[in-house]
Amino acid sequence: MEDKKVLFEVKNMKQYFPAKGGKLVKAVDGVTFNIYEGETLGVVGESGCGKTTCGRTILGIYRATDGEVLYKGKNLNDFNSADRMNFSKNCQMIFQDPAACLDPRMPIGTIIQEGLNVHFKSMSKAEKEEKVNQVLSYVGLTSDYASRFPHEISGGQRQRIGIARALAIDPTFIVCDEPIAALDVSIQAQVVNLLIKLQKELGLTYMFISHDLSMVRHISDRIAVMYLGSLVELGGNESIYGNPLHPYTKALFSAIPEPDPYHSWLKNRVHLEGEIPSPINAPAGCKFCTRCPHATEICKTQAPELKEVEPGHFVACHLMDR
Ligand code: SF4
Repeated sequence: MEDKKVLFEVKNMKQYFPAKGGKLVKAVDGVTFNIYEGETLGVVGESGCGKTTCGRTILGIYRATDGEVLYKGKNLNDFNSADRMNFSKNCQMIFQDPAACLDPRMPIGTIIQEGLNVHFKSMSKAEKEEKVNQVLSYVGLTSDYASRFPHEISGGQRQRIGIARALAIDPTFIVCDEPIAALDVSIQAQVVNLLIKLQKELGLTYMFISHDLSMVRHISDRIAVMYLGSLVELGGNESIYGNPLHPYTKALFSAIPEPDPYHSWLKNRVHLEGEIPSPINAPAGCKFCTRCPHATEICKTQAPELKEVEPGHFVACHLMDR
């Protein structure tokens, strides 16, 4: 990755939310990683591990409680109004539930044009309509979809509209937040393959958040594994799936279904005991220590640092020090 340009530098980023009794929900608790231009960074972990909050904080939807997010070398907190406008044009998000984020009263063409009205004010009506038709064709839909309403189309088509809306303003980076979770299994692969095709054609960078480990493997160049607001492992697709080192990653990946029954039988399934603790009362030391089969005394008191154990492969676990 050394030869690739850094798009985002995330340094010890924290995102805490106030909870009852003066406590804090530590949704993201000090994560550090880069996102490189042109790559897809997959982010995996159980529900509530902080994946979505991480994506939203990087996009500036939430202001980080602590730490830094640098976009092309500049801290989001130092942006002036021109920087903010440029950032919101270039950095977009695709949401999990396409039905919930498309206004049911608006025709699809109007929905797609909304971003153009903000970022391309000098565009004529005809140019905007042409742009709508162009992005509809990008996502495999014909121009007559522009006059339809969201309730008149299928869930898969609504997600394509969500992608078209994001693409209309020519972004360079998209946070794809569980973009296939609400779709039928039969069309999930179609949407992921569409994202891969668009990335190649338009040179996009993705942060792909999902709990579908097979899809993340299919689309991602690098993978970040999160547990209870912390980054526990980060590395290239081959390293993470071929040689997972953190006990949590091993357990997570051992649950991926094997199509071949013989390989499935051979697979060493790791069963985790207990539930993921609350981010309000996370364990001291390593946050995984209440469920980890290898936990020792040091794990209960000292949080392990994320260390590079082989080129480009980072793990946060005391086992790596032994
Ligand atoms: Fe398990 Fe300890 Fe490693 Fe945490 S630091 S994952 S508790 S061995």
